[in-house]
Amino acid sequence: MLNSQLTTVSINASVVPIDMAGGILGQAGYTAFAFDQSGFKLATNGTMEFDSADFVSLTAAQREALVLHEMAHVLGFGTLWTDNGVYLNESGEFTGANATAAWQSEFGQNGTPDVELAGGPGTANGHWNEFDNGAGLTGITDGLGRDMTFELMTGWLNVGPEDPFISELTLASFRDIGFTTANATAVPEPGTGGVLVAGLAVGMGWRRRRSLAEK
Ligand SMILES: [Zn+2]
Repeated sequence: MLNSQLTTVSINASVVPIDMAGGILGQAGYTAFAFDQSGFKLATNGTMEFDSADFVSLTAAQREALVLHEMAHVLGFGTLWTDNGVYLNESGEFTGANATAAWQSEFGQNGTPDVELAGGPGTANGHWNEFDNGAGLTGITDGLGRDMTFELMTGWLNVGPEDPFISELTLASFRDIGFTTANATAVPEPGTGGVLVAGLAVGMGWRRRRSLAEK
């Protein structure tokens, strides 16, 4: 089927047993994609799974953040970076120009945004970097004093007093992989390449961050 404009991204969502309480909270990836006129590879379909053992114990705000987090993976965060030329596997550095500008202006950092290399498959190479498997503050803060450890698209959910926040960095990273607005849920417009089916979903899990009480 050929479409000149993509009007929807379809996502299957389910709450299923994954790994008991703790550990992985959810996992997601795209299952079909299309290329736009600039050559960006964009997701058109995807799937999200949430661990039933954890989902009920999350607060409403954490649950909403978890859904947004997994939706971001469907839309390409950490799953379409390499194919869109903004990340080399195991490099630990996201090289997109928009995200790099946000990394410097929003968080006062030098160079390119740091990507997580710890946590194993599903966490490494698919999130912004945290330290100590999410257990400690990064010391990297935005203009409101919010530490990167509380950002939506790090590999571990903070279960402390602060709810996850969405940074300009994350929104900018979507512009680097073909999105044309600052809205992370905006629908991209593919060209006439048609819809291709990926061989398999690229799964990225979100692991629960250790709480202070567990340290
Ligand atoms: Zn994730």
